Amino acid sequence: MIHGKTSKITQSVHAGSHEYLAHGGVVTPIFPSSAYDYEGGRPLQYPRYFNIPNQLAVAGKVAALENAEAGVVFSSGMAAILTTLFSLLKNGDHAIFQRDLYGGTHHALAQEMPRFGIAYTLVDGADPANFEKAIRPETRLIYIETPSNPTLKITDIRAVAAIARRHGLLTVIDNTFASPVNQNPIDLGIDIVLHSGTKYIGGHSDLCCGFAVTTQDLTQRILASAINHGGSLDAHTAWLVERSLKTIVLRVRQQNENALAIARYLKTDNRIGQVYYPGLEDHPNHTVARTQMPGGFGGMLSFEVKGDAQVFMAKLALIQRAASLGGVESTITSPARTSHVKVSAEERKATGVTDGLVRLSTGIEEAEDLINDIKQALA
Ligand code: PLP
Repeated sequence: MIHGKTSKITQSVHAGSHEYLAHGGVVTPIFPSSAYDYEGGRPLQYPRYFNIPNQLAVAGKVAALENAEAGVVFSSGMAAILTTLFSLLKNGDHAIFQRDLYGGTHHALAQEMPRFGIAYTLVDGADPANFEKAIRPETRLIYIETPSNPTLKITDIRAVAAIARRHGLLTVIDNTFASPVNQNPIDLGIDIVLHSGTKYIGGHSDLCCGFAVTTQDLTQRILASAINHGGSLDAHTAWLVERSLKTIVLRVRQQNENALAIARYLKTDNRIGQVYYPGLEDHPNHTVARTQMPGGFGGMLSFEVKGDAQVFMAKLALIQRAASLGGVESTITSPARTSHVKVSAEERKATGVTDGLVRLSTGIEEAEDLINDIKQALA
């Protein structure tokens, strides 16, 4: 255990780990056991009960980084999102979601919620009042994602949390794009923070996991459903996630710097249309982003290529075309063809996901090398 308040970078190295050290080692060992002795007052331990040592170590670390009391690690971000929603909602309930969401979440809502008799409304998150207007007597929760995927819209977290509190509703946020380094929504009044750990938490494009971190009480409520849904993470991957988390602050700081440098350059190049990055002073919600993202504006940006976006992406030499994000290597994608391919053309249009839009996930390379790669591809 760490005593007293320490900085985020110290927590990223030490939080969650200490009680599992053995034989004088400084690293949590991998506990691959799926069968545990239950005598002697021990709790029933089992991978699908989400309570084996490697799972607890990473859940504790992400909870510490998010200033949460506790949390759960899942086998994917979607497992974290849907298990959380199904643990809080039941037949007859209503929920409010921000319209600009990760395409997979959008698709999952459309496919799963109506089948279980759960109604939902999508609202434009730009104005927090839209959430309040959508509240009905049977509304139970408000769900937001900021910065949003892929157009980096910013929702005012404090304002949404205050509305929810006034109406006795729970609040859930997908904090994947910001990472726990840049934005800690629990400090701003949000109840539950979700992550696709596949992105910045894993950080090396080599694993898949998810997190839900919150209070002790809500963690127990989520766990009660999680044990039934069964989206648990194996010990080996959990161990790798813990290793990755030790460098998350260093990685994300560099990614923040790179994204800002690239966004500033793109604004000066007339072959580029709209540039979406919350760190740019002319982003419509830059002031809000500044107050709720004290760590930085993140490593994600998107922009419109005036020529053929597919040709531009094919010409990039250093930046790789790949559908995921948050890794140490810079990657680029066409959201209309990847993350949002299952979202209807109409909904894509409404949220600005045009065919010319490309989404860049900046890695930890030298910013100048990345800018030079973009310049040569545009030429
Ligand atoms: N949330 C966001 C913002 C994402 O970008 C993704 C995946 O791209 C997810 C959730 C889903 O996470 P996973 O793919 O780990 O299930």
